[in-house]
Amino acid sequence: MGSEQRVAAETHVLTLPLPFQGHINPMLQFSKRLASKGLKVTPLSFTDKEWTKAAEHGSVNVQIIFDDTLFAEITDQEDTVYINNLYATVKRRLPEVVAKHGESGYPISCLVYDSLMPWALDIAMELGLLGATLFTQSLAVSNIYYEVHQGKLKVPVEKTAVAVEGMPPLEIHDLPSFLFDLENYPLSLKLSASQFSNIGEADWVFFNTFNSLEDEVLNLMARQCAIKPVGPTIPSMYTDNRVKDDKDYGLSLFKPDVESLFKPDVESCMKWLDSREPCSVVYVSFGSLSILGERQMEEIACGLKMSCHYFLWVVRETEKEKFPSRFLDETSEKGLVVTWCPQLEVLAHKSVGCFMTHCGWNSTLEALSMGVPMVAMPQWADQTTNAKFVADVWRVGVRVKVDEEGIVTGKEIELRIREVMEEETAIEIRKNSEKWEKLAKEAVDEDGSSDKNIQEFVAKLICNST
Ligand code: UDP
Repeated sequence: MGSEQRVAAETHVLTLPLPFQGHINPMLQFSKRLASKGLKVTPLSFTDKEWTKAAEHGSVNVQIIFDDTLFAEITDQEDTVYINNLYATVKRRLPEVVAKHGESGYPISCLVYDSLMPWALDIAMELGLLGATLFTQSLAVSNIYYEVHQGKLKVPVEKTAVAVEGMPPLEIHDLPSFLFDLENYPLSLKLSASQFSNIGEADWVFFNTFNSLEDEVLNLMARQCAIKPVGPTIPSMYTDNRVKDDKDYGLSLFKPDVESLFKPDVESCMKWLDSREPCSVVYVSFGSLSILGERQMEEIACGLKMSCHYFLWVVRETEKEKFPSRFLDETSEKGLVVTWCPQLEVLAHKSVGCFMTHCGWNSTLEALSMGVPMVAMPQWADQTTNAKFVADVWRVGVRVKVDEEGIVTGKEIELRIREVMEEETAIEIRKNSEKWEKLAKEAVDEDGSSDKNIQEFVAKLICNST
């Protein structure tokens, strides 16, 4: 090992994801990308769930800072108690972790933390560490939360249309739901706005996005602080091309079957997809948190059935009791229903023709980076804004309409699926999807815009260590 490589391998970074699937995934991928540049990286985990115990994480070893006394009965507690518990755990455990690594000859130089835990920066600074925040939502959504933080955008928003600098005209339901549904989510909005509370003190501000995807809002926000896009934080093997050798993880930065809070049904999904024609399957998933009503589940089932396309539908274990088996069999000749799937592999599979998605930011970026057209069916949080961009800005999909009763009908679902799978519009959407797939790949390829930001970060840390 040359002396430069040795210094890099001794430059040690801790990463701290919020313990939710949609936050663990991008932080873990970012950790692996940093490790692929030669740094020593230790992701910290608040949970003792399966993914932390998995024997193999390739280039990084997860360290558990789980505290069972603090997290007892957590499911019944309120958001504030939950966040306070996270804070207390980090406050108590981080000094121990930092001291221990120092003694073992791998002192920590920097903490990369999820932007929803801004207090982690204060704790890192007390310990003499550099601090880097990673935003796992889009720049557009962050810009809106920033306006709320500054008091420029008054909440709850009651107007039907809102003008936000750097953004296309937004109707109320294009805004993150916390802004108009304040009654149900008062703490979530406070938390989202708090991401900016000490942003000026962070040494780096990273975003899971890429320059060309959000250039207008990037230029605007860059006036406030030095934002560095480092996304999409998905493994390069998935952005290389759409036809993959699905058994070869040799170059993979990611092994989906061991990194999930949920257990994916890898074999049955891939076998079922292998037996389908190219671009013939509608992949349906609402992510790790969304809860659908029973009637809505029925309408989805009807819509899928009426569309006459094959479908792979993820219905999480906790949603299973609402599965409308009187409309659909779980494994009818047209469809397969699983409780969790290896989403990246599914999106990369050549039989997948479109993704009916809740538009969580990871799912949106993953589909966009793999050139898969979307039927956007947002549920809450930032998904509404992501759906607006999918349909009207990047034009890589269509968005479903919600009726007066708050339901997306089966007929509406059938029509939107046909629009992205069959009709004239499908050609245009597919062309746009291919364009964004190419741009996403360019950003993370060596010397692409996101890769350069990562290289710069690594070089500065190494320089600090010498
Ligand atoms: N995911 C997966 N298998 C599934 C459904 C989702 O691996 O069956 C992954 C998906 O690839 C994404 C994450 O879970 O990385 C969900 O994050 P997202 O931001 O899309 O939604 P959230 O779960 O936070 O609402």
